[in-house]
Amino acid sequence: MKKRVFSGTRATGRLHLGNYLGAVKGYIALQNDPSYECVYMAVDVHTVTTPFDPKTLQTATRDIIMDYLAAGLDPGKAIITKQSLVPEHTELAFLFSSVMNVARLQDLPTFKEKIRQHPQSVTMALLNYPMLMAADILIYKAGLVPCGLDQEPHLEITREVARKMNQAFGTDFPEVQRFVTEGQYVPSLAGEGKMSKSVEGSFINLTDDLDSIRKKIRQVQTETTSSGKQLEKGTGINTLFELLRLFSQPEESAKFKRYLELRSQYLSPQGDFRFGLLKDELSELIYQELKPIREKRKELESKPEYVDQVIIVGAEKARVIASATVAEVKQKMGLG
Ligand code: ADP
Repeated sequence: MKKRVFSGTRATGRLHLGNYLGAVKGYIALQNDPSYECVYMAVDVHTVTTPFDPKTLQTATRDIIMDYLAAGLDPGKAIITKQSLVPEHTELAFLFSSVMNVARLQDLPTFKEKIRQHPQSVTMALLNYPMLMAADILIYKAGLVPCGLDQEPHLEITREVARKMNQAFGTDFPEVQRFVTEGQYVPSLAGEGKMSKSVEGSFINLTDDLDSIRKKIRQVQTETTSSGKQLEKGTGINTLFELLRLFSQPEESAKFKRYLELRSQYLSPQGDFRFGLLKDELSELIYQELKPIREKRKELESKPEYVDQVIIVGAEKARVIASATVAEVKQKMGLG
């Protein structure tokens, strides 16, 4: 039997370089490996855990699916759909919440961070976010999740839920592992933290044109700190070199040699380093890698029926697997 893979992206804005390098590149690598059966979703139900606009949610969800398809996800190789069309996820999340302690969820750094961002919206849905994520993954009995480093605390909860369910009810949920990509942590363009849809000025979208890429890259701070020419984490200079490394793959390529050359020029004690040049070269590299994605995205915009079809067919396939898991769990829990 093929090993299962699950991953998803919240419908809170268009895909950015962090999503692409940390998650979507992993989705593509795994969908192209015939030993895996992959399920990739726009996880729109997760969007309601923080303040959202119901008038734009449908469009935001379709945007994620179109970005997925433009970036290279292939409905011939993977199940691609949106979470709200597979209601079994929310049913399983509720059953999972019966084995999880409230204090454990309240203690999660991701929950605390969201409280800081939205102090007026500390809802039950927000607290239960990791239960829904555990259900998203375990409903497919997926053992592998391509996602960024930021999701590790949630994956740990997923492992706990699996262990507790297996212990209490004799289910056979697997221990999930993160599928790690080169870009598992893409830093923000605007200082501390990771690139994120919810932090203004931190990201470059997959469909940005050369002008906007240049503008955003030029705004990255390059003042050297008192400790000299170190590539310190959290500094703009480190962000630029990290992006340059990620867009200069593979390591055998001429691009990568150029990255090493620029890096050692910067670190060399002699002479001034021209950040303007580095920024322009980096912008060009990003633009070139994103070009085919932008073109495919344009093409998809003129084929709305095709996109709808992908979502509907994906949901039908997903529900076959998801409903079997829910039936099994309910039977083992003495329900239904
Ligand atoms: P965001 O924080 O921008 O809203 P999501 O929470 O929707 O992103 O994450 C979608 C996927 O992209 C997840 O697998 C997440 O780990 C990954 N991801 C998000 N931001 C980054 C980043 N800066 N670097 C690497 N991976 C990231």
